[in-house]
Amino acid sequence: MMKSTLLPIHVVGGGLAGSEAAWQAAEAGVPVILHEMRGVRGTDAHKTDSLAELVCSNSFRSDDATANAVGVIHAEMRLAGSLIMACADKHQVPAGGALAVDRDGFAEAVSQSVEAHPLITVVREEITGLPPKDWGSTIIATGPLTSPDLAEAIRAETGEDALAFFDAIAPIVYRDSIDMDICWYQSRYDKVGPGGTGKDYINCPLDEAQYNAFIDELIAGDAVGFKEWEGTPYFDGCLPIEVMAERGRETLRHGPMKPMGLTNAHDPTVKPYAVVQLRQDNALGTLYNMVGFQTKLRYGAQAEIFRMIPGLENAEFARLGGLHRNTYINSPVLLDPTLALKSRPELRFAGQITGCEGYVESASIGLLAGRFAAAERKGEMPVPPPQTTAMGSLLNHITGGHLVSDEEPGKRSFQPMNINFGLFPDLAPGSIVKPEGIKRFRGKDKTIMKRQLMAARALDDCKAWLAREHA
Ligand SMILES: Cc1cc2nc3c(=O)[nH]c(=O)nc-3n(C[C@H](O)[C@H](O)[C@H](O)COP(=O)(O)OP(=O)(O)OC[C@H]3O[C@@H](n4cnc5c(N)ncnc54)[C@H](O)[C@@H]3O)c2cc1C
Repeated sequence: MMKSTLLPIHVVGGGLAGSEAAWQAAEAGVPVILHEMRGVRGTDAHKTDSLAELVCSNSFRSDDATANAVGVIHAEMRLAGSLIMACADKHQVPAGGALAVDRDGFAEAVSQSVEAHPLITVVREEITGLPPKDWGSTIIATGPLTSPDLAEAIRAETGEDALAFFDAIAPIVYRDSIDMDICWYQSRYDKVGPGGTGKDYINCPLDEAQYNAFIDELIAGDAVGFKEWEGTPYFDGCLPIEVMAERGRETLRHGPMKPMGLTNAHDPTVKPYAVVQLRQDNALGTLYNMVGFQTKLRYGAQAEIFRMIPGLENAEFARLGGLHRNTYINSPVLLDPTLALKSRPELRFAGQITGCEGYVESASIGLLAGRFAAAERKGEMPVPPPQTTAMGSLLNHITGGHLVSDEEPGKRSFQPMNINFGLFPDLAPGSIVKPEGIKRFRGKDKTIMKRQLMAARALDDCKAWLAREHA
């Protein structure tokens, strides 16, 4: 290792997040010891010993930094000197507007860069417990398939309910795509929970014919099968809605779609036969999740079937539902704004284990964790990026922006999240102005302009944040 007067940072896990974290810290002049178990012990999804192996698709999704939140996070990571983005750009394969990569070339390039860095030492070993205190600053980036012994140690440190082993994701809808001429705000029985108003849910009413048609489509819907290694996936309180529908036509009406305690504000004389409830998902109030609607239906089928629900005919989904093996912690409760574990601040978490979802999202949280840990090692104060940036909005969501459910105290509601514009703070009022010379300025045009303005603001603010960091 190149000589440095600074103590090393330990990074556990050499996936997308851990490789990026190690790179960022080393580039900041801090030595890094990266512990990766592959080579000694494999996972159920990885096939090679390369660092940053892509376990499934070879796509980093949209590369459009002008109007797509994924493209914006790509651009911000490039500005911040991301190794993952540099290697992806170098090994790009044609994929239209998406950034797709040659997976072997990409992973080899990341491995070579990390292994050749004079400040990084790669050790092939499984870490089976929480790092000893004398390691000091450590980043845990062991991903959705964290090995069982380490997962158990994390669970012992953070508490029984703080570590999940499955994603049971209900779809999340953009609030401004819900038709409030059909839906209304009301909590069941007007209950005012802690921090609530009695009008905390958006309710979508169904009559008997609409309910039956919806159940028919759910049962006929195309579901995704489980992989063998995902084990027995169904557990208490987390049945996919299509499985509930199969168990009996009335099951959903007595479960997540029960109409009790709700009165249609638009016509109190008509009692809904069933109701779909959506609960605010982020502090900004831009995203709402469909309560109890975890599903394994294929994405195409989900959008089509959920748009049958009155009020959701034009719903735009920030993310669709899913149910799969995933190890992640309850970050909004456990982590501080710089990804440090509140109960042991020398430990940081990064990547998918923090509850972000996706290759780029995982790498971006690794990028931030590496920079924060390096700043601290150098005696500086880590400065998170502003919430108006894509990286800042995702960081904010996982470390506090997600709302903890108040109706079911103690029950964790935090679900993994992709980057999307619903995580960004709204624009200043009056920002969206009809361009001169344009006759019709429709809702769709306004949405595009809003995204363009948010993207431009994000990149400006990211540049200012990086300039301040280097000042
Ligand atoms: C089956 C599957 C398919 C997925 N498909 C996609 C997809 O198509 N597109 C997408 O964007 N996202 C996908 N994801 C989600 C996610 O973005 C990726 O899993 C991503 O690799 C997460 O990055 P990470 O760095 O957090 O974890 P990983 O890339 O998994 O890296 C974690 C590393 O930690 C190592 N490790 C684990 N435990 C230990 C230990 N105790 N000691 C030392 N090392 C350890 C692992 O070997 C691994 O190298 C998928 C996830 C899974 C599980």
